[in-house]
Amino acid sequence: MIPFAGNPLNRASEKRTDSSWIESKRHDPSSLVLPMWRLAPLLLEQKLTAEQPELGLLRPDIVDSLASAGAPCIFLGLDGDVAVFALDVSDRADPSKDGPLAGLGHFVEARAAAQAVSMRDAAIIAQAKAMIDWHQRHGFCPRCGAPTKLVDAGYRRLCGECKAEHFPRTDPVVIMLATDGDACLVGRGKHFPRGMFSALAGFVEPGETIEEAVRRELMEEASIKVSEVTYYATQPWPFPSSLMIGCFAKAESRDAKADDIEIAEVRWIERSVARGLINGKRMDGIMVPPPIAIAHHLIKAWALSEK
Ligand SMILES: [Zn+2]
Repeated sequence: MIPFAGNPLNRASEKRTDSSWIESKRHDPSSLVLPMWRLAPLLLEQKLTAEQPELGLLRPDIVDSLASAGAPCIFLGLDGDVAVFALDVSDRADPSKDGPLAGLGHFVEARAAAQAVSMRDAAIIAQAKAMIDWHQRHGFCPRCGAPTKLVDAGYRRLCGECKAEHFPRTDPVVIMLATDGDACLVGRGKHFPRGMFSALAGFVEPGETIEEAVRRELMEEASIKVSEVTYYATQPWPFPSSLMIGCFAKAESRDAKADDIEIAEVRWIERSVARGLINGKRMDGIMVPPPIAIAHHLIKAWALSEK
């Protein structure tokens, strides 16, 4: 399974427009609320020493006093019969230091938190983080500039002036591994840590298919022409709101060259080298991203395939 995928919650989207149901669940003692402070989820203190910390899903009455009026509260979905919400508590100093959360846990940056918790909790973090981030950045209507307000339990914002509706966005990004026989192409982004190489990636542009984006990005970043493009898997990537679309692409030659704009260096690596890299080894002075990134899984799937 790829991290951030596999969200265990039933999104129960039909309930979002039922404001009396949402309001009653929001204060129901059996419901759970994940406080998010400046996009960092709460992880529980007593679990921090355990092998795998747990998400700070708390009873509504514990977190209610932390949010200012109008702070985004998102209905994430149902876990069985239990309604689960995410609440933005960013408007004050770190709420884990005192008040009702004191001693319960810590707010941990979303990427680090996701690598510490279970896959199930990581997927909930992806949803909560992407949603709250979107609300924080869409307080004003892009059409007329007037304030917008949260409706439908967080899945829509409505402009009070021109009545335009705004929906949470997900930006598609292609991430692809060009291959030629027993070698695959990896690149080092200009801002990557020393020795880090990954699959090449880029945003899908308006009016473009996934396959076209894969071909264009490989040509732009590595001067590589590819023939067949095949889909591998997708990954929600809440930094801030991408959907990573993993693909393989058959290269027509190994004549690759980094663009020196986004990519500093490209390299073909042999399958035997790739097998070592995905086990966390540094080989030939290079390493690849850890399992939180879909790039890791693309390289792994190819490295472990027969041909
Ligand atoms: Zn407007």
